[in-house]
Amino acid sequence: NQRLANLIELSRDAVIIRDPAHHILFWNQGAERLYGWTEQEASGKEIHALLSTRFPVSLEEVSTLLKENGQWEGILLHTCQDGEMVKVESQQVLVRNEAGEVSDILEINRDVTERERLARERAEAKANELILREANRLMDEFIGIAGHELRTPLTTIKVSVQLAQRQLSRMLKQYASQDAMHVTLSSLRDHLVRTEKQISMQNRLISDLLDVSRIHAGRMELHPDLCDLVSLVQEVVGDQHYLTPERTLDLVITTPEQTLVMADADRVRQVVSNYISNALKYSEATEPVKIRVRLIDSCVQVSVQDHGPGLSLEQQQRVWERFYRVPSVEVKAGSGIGLGLGLHISRMIIEWQQGQVGVCSEPGAGSTFWFTLPLAEG
Ligand code: ADP
Repeated sequence: NQRLANLIELSRDAVIIRDPAHHILFWNQGAERLYGWTEQEASGKEIHALLSTRFPVSLEEVSTLLKENGQWEGILLHTCQDGEMVKVESQQVLVRNEAGEVSDILEINRDVTERERLARERAEAKANELILREANRLMDEFIGIAGHELRTPLTTIKVSVQLAQRQLSRMLKQYASQDAMHVTLSSLRDHLVRTEKQISMQNRLISDLLDVSRIHAGRMELHPDLCDLVSLVQEVVGDQHYLTPERTLDLVITTPEQTLVMADADRVRQVVSNYISNALKYSEATEPVKIRVRLIDSCVQVSVQDHGPGLSLEQQQRVWERFYRVPSVEVKAGSGIGLGLGLHISRMIIEWQQGQVGVCSEPGAGSTFWFTLPLAEG
């Protein structure tokens, strides 16, 4: 009996023996740990009063089942000494003496509070993930539809503005000698030029929205072909110089004249253009921007260095997320428009073509955004 009692003491479950009137006769260390009362404190107490037992059905029903079947299993709620409530999986067995009368009831209670809490948390996390995934899918779908709908009238507006500009240019020539008319027409043309710039900007935002919805639906199409990265970068820098002649763009090329990669040229142009326009946008108008093309092992690296605000380590990681914009980074030059999509799209474009992207930066020390693409074989 002593050996048996020692073994029961070792059990992590609460093992309790009570008489038919529910008074506690035995209370192991597992019960002490679970409920907080020592065996001395619990001994002789009416168990349901001590633990404020809450049954799934009435106590009478449990007693009847116990009497009929000789055992009962179910979930109980108990209140511990410190007032905490625990949920236990309870197994109760009737012990009869030689005369067949009930002498004791053995009760083994296993704490499932934590297990149930974890299961509940897991189920909640899974449900939240599903909701989030569905919300994201709906958002991508919406962005795709809205983008198309917004772009259609914009295309018509752009064509009309360009036609009006052409007509105005003709009229300007026609009325060159009439000063008043010439001034009015010039001012009208300026309005149209500004309108066209705004349309292009809006077009770019819509393109970013459409790209991001395509990426997330796995529908972005790339058309890889052999292209020379050096002339591609030179072209983008040339275009940018045309748009912002007042800014200094230093281009340093240390690769062979032709540096061929297998990539979608338009998409790579988009990445270079995004890096350069960010560098210009987030640094002072007086600061230069340096663009480098160089070889690193079997890859070619394009980097864009600015003297802007620089980024902390956490920001360097987060800028590649979609819709993320660093709250402390202000637009210093050009338009303030941005949706926090350009770098996310750039990363996808490069990674889908076996390349890598990254940024080296420190707050206050500017940033260098870079990407690599593998050199075309042979
Ligand atoms: P956005 O259209 O907002 O510029 P991007 O995806 O291109 O979107 O950039 C995400 C964010 O990263 C920007 O909003 C800005 O906060 C930060 N960022 C991008 N480029 C730079 C840079 N060169 N220097 C500092 N911060 C930058």
